[in-house]
Amino acid sequence: MRLTDKFGRAITDLRVSITDRCNYKCVYCRTGNEGAQYADLPMADYLRMVRVLVSMGIEKVRITGGEPLLRKGVVDFVRELSLLRTVDGNSLDTAITTNGHLLADLAQPLKDAGLKRVTVSMDAVDPAKFARITRVENGYQNVTAGIRAARRAGLDPVKVNCVLLRGFNEDQIVEFGKFARDEGVVVRFIEFMPLEEDRVWSPEIVVPLDEILQRMSQFMPLKEIAHASSETARRYIFEDGIGEIGIIAPVSHPFCGHCSRIRITSDGKIRTCLFSQVDHDLYGVMKRGSDADMAAYIEKVVQQKEARHHIGEPDFQKPSRSMVHIGG
Ligand code: SF4
Repeated sequence: MRLTDKFGRAITDLRVSITDRCNYKCVYCRTGNEGAQYADLPMADYLRMVRVLVSMGIEKVRITGGEPLLRKGVVDFVRELSLLRTVDGNSLDTAITTNGHLLADLAQPLKDAGLKRVTVSMDAVDPAKFARITRVENGYQNVTAGIRAARRAGLDPVKVNCVLLRGFNEDQIVEFGKFARDEGVVVRFIEFMPLEEDRVWSPEIVVPLDEILQRMSQFMPLKEIAHASSETARRYIFEDGIGEIGIIAPVSHPFCGHCSRIRITSDGKIRTCLFSQVDHDLYGVMKRGSDADMAAYIEKVVQQKEARHHIGEPDFQKPSRSMVHIGG
């Protein structure tokens, strides 16, 4: 029996956060002084939770954080995941989302351990602007070195996610287009969502899909290409065929109708949606019971998965956790 919510959406994608610690302090995420709030769990605990979920139909596992490469056992964790098989007997599609600061030394070991894909969060290709956004010195050099190491290791296509904020980095759109072409990576622009630590989000700060397309097309016309319904990004290639960009537009073009995701937080809670108001204590069930108890609990929780987000609507409520404590 595959995991399906009450709207008929098959739940095949899991995002598991292995820490809420981070070595960056990005202005649109760490806007308050919360810092890390939850103790990291032993990797074996995440592995047990993932194993049960894979037996219920999960096919893709994305490792997130905070910054997951801060965890010493991350390479071994990837190796363990690569030994798991989906209900169809296939290997898991494993990916990691990282800020790239530590990637240069870890790209090859992660690839050798069985990692399939890597996504690097990067919000500027101008080193000075990069430093202003991340509030970390010399990060830009580390991240570009990490991206190139990931490509050399064969973690292709390397995706680069850029969160756009009006007044901060919308002037980087065309530069990122050139970066995608020059570096051979897929750059995806993300509309800013109200998931920051305290309240800086407003509709005015969001740079919407249509504006991103309009700005990039002034550099070179784009052609839209097909994307899977459960994929969050709309995909485009430049008219000369060199370079691909994507746009993840949860605010202006929501994609909740095809949502196939649930998340496990670094302290072992299930979140059925980024904007959930509740956490479900899978770790507690795991500590008290069997794998069968966990599966029954997961089945019950998935029936409570939200239909969609309500960003920008009068009844919108900020989620009970900020992004760094959820894990993207
Ligand atoms: S907002 Fe919630 S329901 Fe919508 S796509 Fe994101 S996780 Fe899925």
